[in-house]
Amino acid sequence: MTQTHATPEARSEIRSARRGAVHRWRQTLIPTTREVPSDATTISHQLCIRAGLIRQVGAGIYDYLPLGWRVIQRICELIREEMDAAGASELLLPALEPIELFKGSKRDIDYGPLLFKLEDRHGRVAALGPTHEEVITELMKSAVTSYKQLPLTLYQIQTKFRDEFRPRAGLLRGREFLMKDAYSFHLNVEGPGGLDEVYDAQHAAYERIFRRTGLDFTIVEAESGPIGGSASHEFMVNAESGEDTILVCDASGYAANVEKCEIGERKWSLDGAGPEDLVKHHTPNLPGIDGVAEHLKLTAADMLKCVVFEPAEESDRESDGPRWIVAVVRGDHDANEGKVRDASGVKVKLADDKAARAAGFAIGYVSPKAAASIERTMLVIDPDAAQAASPNAKGWATGADEKDHHVTGFSWSSDLAPALGAKMTEVRYVKVADCRNAVAGDPSPRGGGTLREQRGIEVGHIFKLGTKYSAAMGFEIMNQDQKREAVIMGCYGLGVSRTLAATIEQRHDDNGILWPVAIAPYHVEIVLMKPEDEKHAEACERLSRELCEAGADVLIDDRAERPGVKFKDADLIGIPVRVTIGDKALEQGGVELKARADEGKGELVPLGEAVARCLAMLGA
Ligand code: ATP
Ligand code: MG
Repeated sequence: MTQTHATPEARSEIRSARRGAVHRWRQTLIPTTREVPSDATTISHQLCIRAGLIRQVGAGIYDYLPLGWRVIQRICELIREEMDAAGASELLLPALEPIELFKGSKRDIDYGPLLFKLEDRHGRVAALGPTHEEVITELMKSAVTSYKQLPLTLYQIQTKFRDEFRPRAGLLRGREFLMKDAYSFHLNVEGPGGLDEVYDAQHAAYERIFRRTGLDFTIVEAESGPIGGSASHEFMVNAESGEDTILVCDASGYAANVEKCEIGERKWSLDGAGPEDLVKHHTPNLPGIDGVAEHLKLTAADMLKCVVFEPAEESDRESDGPRWIVAVVRGDHDANEGKVRDASGVKVKLADDKAARAAGFAIGYVSPKAAASIERTMLVIDPDAAQAASPNAKGWATGADEKDHHVTGFSWSSDLAPALGAKMTEVRYVKVADCRNAVAGDPSPRGGGTLREQRGIEVGHIFKLGTKYSAAMGFEIMNQDQKREAVIMGCYGLGVSRTLAATIEQRHDDNGILWPVAIAPYHVEIVLMKPEDEKHAEACERLSRELCEAGADVLIDDRAERPGVKFKDADLIGIPVRVTIGDKALEQGGVELKARADEGKGELVPLGEAVARCLAMLGA
């Protein structure tokens, strides 16, 4: 009876706490229910509603009820302690962000429909803050003028607004949700006070926050953006139900999200001989690559998928570099934009359909041969596609560069090489490089192991921004040499409400939630069988007083309900330790103790020992 998810860190949670709180069920609002809305498909959404933590007001909008709000407060306490210890200072920025603030960063355009916009009575437009880089950069611009004031790290815990397309997973993806966002400001990347140092301090603080919550999590490398290097990490709560795919190499400890994950060395060759003839097939109205493969009696792995990209910046499109970049991956793989960017050396985006068609691409039916007929086209071929096709497929199947048609029998040596001629060996036209998302079973980029796939819920994301915002918004200050320099920034987001939901995704059983001690809404629930009975009330009063003096938060179920209902609800709301005060135990001078995570009935404990036993079960 000791299993309460009390981590060693949780121990100090209890000991250092001030006097705990004692609350009575009848004096608070815990509307437990068996009913769940039909759209609540994730377990955390269901349990949040069933345990009376939240109530749905609209799509992606929730009331935080007392029990849920207590968990949020516990998470915020951990965050504040660790942020303050890392040298960050708390402030609060407005949720209403005048749209003019986005002029420099153009993020109102990048965010698109995700941004909530509203107009005031004077016709002025504002956004409801999806995050606060612009607001804080503007603030710092007016408040900081000299290098002597840096470095500085500021954070807030605040409601964010995003018009998410599918806000259907409860607190995992709200349209109004709580986030901790921190921002740091520097004049140097390396050295004392530099971005790297503060980034590492934030990284360590995040690690401590999630370790203290008692969650099982993985830190992964994420797409790093403009500065490069290992400049972005995500904190993922390990859960089967997670939306994010992460890849892990157990041998080396390498972990990355699917956008970022590198793939180890793969052998390739474009020389393998192929079959003589291309055969054209009529393939109209087939849904995607799997449909085409099925129609051709092949598998997706027998096909080459050609995805057309173009430079994202107009200046790159007009330069003498490639105008089009066609990524060629095996049909069962997915092209990866960041890797196509790295391989081609230009920032890319998916090609505009209309422009690509106008240039001659038969979008949906493109083959590598398009590179031979359309000028300034670069091919980036993934090593797994830079092979002879599998023997049973008799050459690769791919597009026919003609609407509604595919070909079979394609090979690099007999079909592309003659069409491209000398260009075939020039890196600026044809490059073989990793350009796809990693999948389970791929070779690890570190230490020769194999990658394994795992699901996760992103609860935190830290990022080296560099001068992205300061340059866009003209935030420059005097450096030591009296020269103006753009300020270097980092940003650090943590989903507070999502952490609550992610905890439930990871910590529950068939009967309800299993709160880790550190963020439980209460530490001990006293189930009072006969609230009106003087003896019962006396024992309850003594226990709750002593527990609260020892720093534990106590919830007393004093409702006039049947025991079965109370026990069911106790399991549902998941307070780590349950104390039952009933006739049978009292007659023997004791109470019944049970850890929520333990199966079976409780244990009879003498009244005088109950508090010490509770605290021990809590790891205090
Ligand atoms: P996602 O890819 O899940 O949409 P994001 O990359 O948009 O997340 P950030 O902009 O990095 O997220 O926000 C920082 C943190 O805020 C995330 O790590 C996540 O924990 C949380 N968060 C983001 N969007 C939501 C949301 N709609 N509801 C709840 N929490 C969210
Ligand atoms: Mg998002």
